[in-house]
Amino acid sequence: MMGLQERLLFCELKTSVTGVNDEGVQPLRKVVFMYCRHCGQKLSLRFCENEGLIPYCSTCADYMFPQFSVAVSMVVTNRAQDKVLLAKHVDDQDFILFAGYVKKGENAEKAIPREIKEELGLNVVKAKYMSSRYYEKNDVLMLNFIVVVEDKEIKMNTNEIAEAKWCSSEEAIQLIRKGTTAEYFLQNAVRELKKKI
Ligand SMILES: [Zn+2]
Repeated sequence: MMGLQERLLFCELKTSVTGVNDEGVQPLRKVVFMYCRHCGQKLSLRFCENEGLIPYCSTCADYMFPQFSVAVSMVVTNRAQDKVLLAKHVDDQDFILFAGYVKKGENAEKAIPREIKEELGLNVVKAKYMSSRYYEKNDVLMLNFIVVVEDKEIKMNTNEIAEAKWCSSEEAIQLIRKGTTAEYFLQNAVRELKKKI
């Protein structure tokens, strides 16, 4: 039988889901913090001021705070900044923004050109940070950028993207999946693009 401590620690577990979520990133498997990630000691729960019950390692004498992921969400535009590129992922009906996880040890500025190269085969001309939102469902902090790409033919990664479509700002707002963080980011970006970045 699982004790209360174990049961509370197991509350961290969320089943991993396959497929791309609303924000364009594949949900990652959640880590269960039953054991210390530094020394392997079984964790207990201890009250931490302002934080509540937090997994605690008695060997390391330290709290093991839950971890989360960071991803970049990208409103891709052309050099003239009068068009927006939307993505339709494999096995998905709606258009969303381009997005990808920031790798361990990488910064967001490096993740952007890497993702754009991987997904579209294009180089990034410049990028501007807009705002961020925490996507609770998958514990991902989404950092949104406007990304200007070179005016070249797209070489799409068809394993991930089924369709990439250049749209006017108005068309993009109509096509983007409604009620998503991507829609919120797009609306902010469209306002910004009127002034150019
Ligand atoms: Zn430890």
